[in-house]
This record gives sequence, C-alpha cells and structure tokens, in this order.
Amino acid sequence: MRPMTSPPLLSPSSSSSRLLLLRLLLSRRRSPASRSPPPPLRRRLPLLAASMSSSSSTAATRNPGSVVADADGLARKVAAIRAAGPAKLQVIADFDGTLTRYWYDGSRGQSSHGLLRQGNEEYDAKREELFEHYHPIEICPDIPLPEKAKLMEEWWEKTHALLIEGGLTYEAIRQSVADAKITFRDGVVKLFEFLEERDIPVLVFSAGLADIIEEVFRQKLHRSFKNIKVVSNRMVFNEEGRLVSFKGKTIHVLNKNEHALDMAAPVHDNLGDPNGYTDDYSLVKKRTNVLLLGDHIGDLGMSDGLNYENRIAVGFLNNNIEKSLKDYSEAFDIVYLNDAPMVGVVELVSELCP
Ligand SMILES: [Mg+2]
Repeated sequence: MRPMTSPPLLSPSSSSSRLLLLRLLLSRRRSPASRSPPPPLRRRLPLLAASMSSSSSTAATRNPGSVVADADGLARKVAAIRAAGPAKLQVIADFDGTLTRYWYDGSRGQSSHGLLRQGNEEYDAKREELFEHYHPIEICPDIPLPEKAKLMEEWWEKTHALLIEGGLTYEAIRQSVADAKITFRDGVVKLFEFLEERDIPVLVFSAGLADIIEEVFRQKLHRSFKNIKVVSNRMVFNEEGRLVSFKGKTIHVLNKNEHALDMAAPVHDNLGDPNGYTDDYSLVKKRTNVLLLGDHIGDLGMSDGLNYENRIAVGFLNNNIEKSLKDYSEAFDIVYLNDAPMVGVVELVSELCP
C-alpha cells in the first residue's frame, strides 16, 4: 500500500473578497515543491491581516506560513475551548503527512503503508501489483463512493492476506521502520509532552497498520506517551513473531472515520509502561472540544463519531498548494503550508490550555 488520498468532502463556496485574497496569495507564492518555509504570510497577505481585529489575533493566526480564512471565527472557538478547560479537550490526529513530514532529505518521505518490506520479494511484488490495480480506483473521482468503499475493502483484505501468507514477522516491521525514510515533524514531541502533562488524550487514526505506526513512535521518538492511542489495523503475531491474523474489522481509507475506539490500544502497552492510561473511551466521548489535525480534507471526518461542541481543524497542505489552498482554507480553520513544523500547533494548544 502507499500513501492514500481522501476525496474532498466539502465543496468550495467563497466570497469575492476571499477569492481576491487567495488569488493574491497564489500569485505571489513560490514553488509548492519547495521544502523551505515561505516568507511570512502576514507580509504577503495584507487583506488577511486587515481582516483580523486585535481581539481575534491568536498565536495561530500570527504564525508565518499559515492561512486562516476566518480569524474571528477561530478566535471564538479558541475562547470557548479555553474557557471549558483541558478536561474537555481531546486531540484527533491523522498519522501520515500530518504527524510525519511529507519530505525527507529532499525527496518524498515514506508513509507507514509504503515503508513495509516483508522480507519476501515475491510478496512485496504482489502487494505492489495490488497497488497498481487499486490505487487508480482510489483516486478516480467518477466511481460512486459505496462501490469504491467495497473495492477499497477488497484491496485492504487482499493486502492483509498477502502479509499473512508471505510470512511477515515483527522483526521485518522493525527492520523496515529502521530503514524507512520517515520522520515526525519538528515539534511533535513538544506537542505530545504538552498534552501529556495536561492529561489530554491524543487519538491517532490511520487506515494503515497500528503495529508499524507504533514501531515508528518507538524508534523515532524513543519514548512513550501514556495519552496516545492508535486506532488502526492491528496484527496478531504468534510466539515466533509471525503474523497470523488481524484484529477486528478492516479499517481502510474510506471507512477509517467510522470506527469506534474499541480497536485502539495504548502505545504504552507494547512499551511495558506499568502505569496504564486510565481515561477510557467513555470518558474520551465526554471530551466535547476537539483539536483535529489532518492533511486531507477527508480527515475532517475523523471527528464524525463525536458529538463535539467546538472543533478547531488544522490542515497541513503539503503539496499541490496552488490547486488546493482554496478548498483547504475553507475546510480547515488553520492551514499550514509547505510541510510546516508543528510549532504553530504547539502555540495553539498553549492558547487553548494556558
Ligand atoms: Mg495523511
């Protein structure tokens, strides 16, 4: 499997002033492929700056490299979440391209799906063949969603079967992660530490493989966080460390948002942390303020199962900026451009939970 895109859920509808603002922004931006951070947007966005009153200026809106289409609306959400306190807040995050960087040493980084080498070339090739067949279906806009969801499920299940048949071992996962071009965004550890200190849960949703994501946490962060749960496809290994089955229902790219957290398991379970995370899902459901982090508009669906009161949606727009900025800036409260570090989000949570 490879990094996957999700279909846009929202259609654009914008005022002429916002269009003007975006046109101005787009006309002056550098190459979307550039890894370097862009010059401060405040300098490039006189209309956006002018639209913000001092009362609505938050750390997030002041952050260079970000776009906030409705600064007043965002400021209202920040104030409401701040007033409710950290006990009401939870973070829901996508993994690939959201917590991890899009670029790695000048080229496209690997995803948690794409990095796996199962130690069996024949089966790696078979999974590649599946990718060649199903990926065009995944990104085809003309296939109705129910039909596409069925095909995605078929793809995931065939892939999982190949992993079992090909004799995937946990050691192969460990080695694949060690060899992988994957890294977290700068500031992710700081963000997790901040949230952990305040007992704010972080749910990481992915259509990939929980075991790989947790191994990436283990190898790249070198520590565990008791407040993080990974909701993804989970493997069962036998005593020899060989994959024998998968737990629960298959989570694929088009249904990852429908899943209850009974599939989640704390990362610390596999890290031997004796102090278990006690905030069970019923308590998480009572946390009605949400900070959502994603890199596709479809990621907004991650909060669908929750009856939230306030949600701040943060989008990382990593590529195709010219094409997508308009949709992203309408869908997300804050959009970070060009594979931005996590510092803006750290500033934001500092405002939400001072
Ligand atoms: Mg993603």
